[in-house]
Amino acid sequence: MNIILLGPPGAGKGTQARKLVEDRDMIQLSTGDMLREARTSGTEMGQIVAEVMDSGKLVTDEIVIGLIREKLEGDKKGGFIFDGFPRTLAQADALEELLAEMDETLDAVIELRVQDEALVARIVGRSTCGNCGEVYHDLTKPIPADGECTVCGGTEFKRRADDNEESLKTRLMEYYKQTSPLLGYYHVKGALRSVDGLADMRDVEAAIAEVLDA
Ligand code: AMP
Repeated sequence: MNIILLGPPGAGKGTQARKLVEDRDMIQLSTGDMLREARTSGTEMGQIVAEVMDSGKLVTDEIVIGLIREKLEGDKKGGFIFDGFPRTLAQADALEELLAEMDETLDAVIELRVQDEALVARIVGRSTCGNCGEVYHDLTKPIPADGECTVCGGTEFKRRADDNEESLKTRLMEYYKQTSPLLGYYHVKGALRSVDGLADMRDVEAAIAEVLDA
């Protein structure tokens, strides 16, 4: 089973993808994570990627499609979760071609619906465990007082350079201009399913499970 998680920044795509990896042995393909890794490579490409990401704009289709193509050649396990990809119609077309070449299908596109006002609050104040990626939030789920991650005991936490109000504005604009047309695209293809991304995390998990098990 191959699925796309679609939604604005802060909608909870990463959190839900991690859960699906745990529960269904699926493979999370997050272009954001791949690009964050690429930016530390010390290459000129890494430097360009870093600048674009910090501004909140989208990295070129060519770069992200290349990253995804490489990953699709690896182990499929319980299927792929595309998290943060595709973000443009050109990426959606490229994904369709890549899956067709592999004789794979796209089984569902799950939209996580969240209003803008909630996104700012969710993103500003967000941090993750540097070891296992568990997500924390200053207000709703603070890092424990003993400074240890509740999942893995890690003691290093990271904040994303683009998790600030200024970059978020650009990220949201990019979402509405370039990514939200994909909702119509997948609706017409009959693949789109929407869940309430503002619901409690467990309820979102249950709603996604319902879609996948239907
Ligand atoms: P994310 O972790 O998904 O929020 O992505 C962080 C940043 O990486 C985005 O704001 C973009 O600059 C870049 N990025 C991630 N995925 C893509 C994509 N599919 N296409 C273009 N840029 C991307």
